[in-house]
Amino acid sequence: MALSGVEIFKHLPKTNCKKCGHPTCLAFAMKLAAKQASLDACPDASEDAKKILGESAAPPIRGITIGTGDKAVKVGDEICLFRHEKKFFNPNAFAVAIKASEAGDAAAKKIEAVKTSEIDRVGQKLRVDAIAVTDEGGDAAKFASVVKQVVDGAPGVPIILVSKIPATIEAGIAHCADKKPLIYAATAENAEAMAKIAKEKKASLAVAAEGLDALTALSEKVKAMGVDDLVLDSGARKAKDMIEHFTIIRRAAIKKNFKPLGYPVITFATRDNSVAETMIAAIATMKYGSIVVVNNVEKWKMLALLSLRQNIYTDPQVPMQVAQNIYKVGDAKENSPLMITTNFSLSYFIVRGEVENSKVPSWLAVMDNEGLSVLTAWAAGKFTASKIAQFVADSGVEKNITHKELIIPGYVAVLSGALEEKLPGWKITVGPREANQLPTFLKARA
Ligand code: SF4
Repeated sequence: MALSGVEIFKHLPKTNCKKCGHPTCLAFAMKLAAKQASLDACPDASEDAKKILGESAAPPIRGITIGTGDKAVKVGDEICLFRHEKKFFNPNAFAVAIKASEAGDAAAKKIEAVKTSEIDRVGQKLRVDAIAVTDEGGDAAKFASVVKQVVDGAPGVPIILVSKIPATIEAGIAHCADKKPLIYAATAENAEAMAKIAKEKKASLAVAAEGLDALTALSEKVKAMGVDDLVLDSGARKAKDMIEHFTIIRRAAIKKNFKPLGYPVITFATRDNSVAETMIAAIATMKYGSIVVVNNVEKWKMLALLSLRQNIYTDPQVPMQVAQNIYKVGDAKENSPLMITTNFSLSYFIVRGEVENSKVPSWLAVMDNEGLSVLTAWAAGKFTASKIAQFVADSGVEKNITHKELIIPGYVAVLSGALEEKLPGWKITVGPREANQLPTFLKARA
């Protein structure tokens, strides 16, 4: 039975330490009761409290981890419908399908593509997360050989075993039982056998049914068989059906705490047409898909999907920021130009990228403005002449350079006069308004 906020409060430490992000333990208890927080956020909750709070403390969508080690992916464990209500916690996983018929060279190419899929975007490493080995014709030996190829060729990459035939799953899981794979899938026809394998091997299990009613019934049935870590597939494959089903599942879990649908969702975006596949995978990413399977790793496709995912799963209440520092770009020397910008990640990476493009070694002073962009920080009074002057004085940058010239962003040209007053002996130069004008600007000075 669900506990009230006050009942939950009785079991919290009552120190109001704020480590959970809430001002008081009572406020946190209210959020727990409303399923808008997870007990994990309180580092001081006792083991007794965890036990007693049980279901009340559990997030409405169960968190499932696939794989082990540093490449393991966690999906689910979400507490809100819309990102602005709090944030989305665990980005959806992208998995690439390798068919049993691709055993050998074709599989090797895909494995290599997964291993080299990592991109660096605004300071975060993004990559394809998992491989879904897919049985087509019930050839258990071939299926198992591809599983082995994946285990050997991509150590640590989480594996999804895709077959409706229990004997085929057993053949495949023999090579990866210690790697916490996800089994796909239990159906109305094979549920007992699949649940048995999942329990024995401590694997997660997807349940697949056509439609939400059948899915609810199957989820309850498999849970009753003792499998806790479930993933749902309602059979929706068209964009319209996916949005409808995934939204209903999410709403039922979050708003009604409806346990049979309180699990992550898997979908197969796999299409022969890459553009169509990308569109479907994007829709799944935007609307509550937790695991999205695609056919292959094409650089353009993954750039689009990983960037979209990064944007959706960025905490809207915390601007992305980099550390305040004086950054060296290229082989900067004491006579190299010195520019200043704010510590909003996008500002930093865009400016830095353009300075690198210019091939003019430079110093980049990045000032902590709580992650605000230049104009916003200026408008908020956090990028003023006084504050910039104080930062320059405290930064120790004068030890690195022999000149006293500071280049400020063109958007805050209005600060140049006041800055020269606050930084006696310094020349303030107004740089370009847009970062993409920096290479021309810097080369003209070199
Ligand atoms: S972290 Fe725990 S002890 Fe601290 S305020 Fe939150 S609920 Fe209370």
